[in-house]
Amino acid sequence: MSKALLIIDYTNDFVAPTGALSAGAPAQAIASRIVELAEQFRAAGDFVFLPTDVHVPGDPYHPETKLFPPHNVRGTWGREFYGPLSPWVAAHADARTVTVFDKTRYSSFAGTPLDLWLRERAVDDLHLVGVCTDICVLHTAVDAYNLSYPLTIHQDAVATFKPGGQAWALDHFKTVLNASLA
Ligand code: ZN
Repeated sequence: MSKALLIIDYTNDFVAPTGALSAGAPAQAIASRIVELAEQFRAAGDFVFLPTDVHVPGDPYHPETKLFPPHNVRGTWGREFYGPLSPWVAAHADARTVTVFDKTRYSSFAGTPLDLWLRERAVDDLHLVGVCTDICVLHTAVDAYNLSYPLTIHQDAVATFKPGGQAWALDHFKTVLNASLA
């Protein structure tokens, strides 16, 4: 029995005012709450994972190339964690209890070892925060639901581009994915 917190895509490109695909002020407003939750989980001996989008600019084989401008390119400022999360990760990432990893699709489970890591750690209580509520958080939640992980979404620590998307996704988590809203 253990708990894990997933901090999804909380990088400059998705959050900072000048980020390539920024969700803007609502995303910036959750920075301190995300770090507070991260520290709470770490201090309690629980797990923190940071699934982080990565792209090759102009990749002709990637579906997002046709949908979005280049973002979260490896080695760029845009892919660094936003605000206070950046020094927190630098201080604590150890690949055992605090693990940063690459993802290339909306879902944190798609093409990654996340399900294996959660099973190795006997995680049966999965918490989601980050951006965007109705894109990467949503797709991660759908996969977690299909893999039977009990889910909690922290509504004060998820954000997206438009208020309608936020409200729709929060309702979907609760009424369709059986998630708890904290
Ligand atoms: Zn992307």
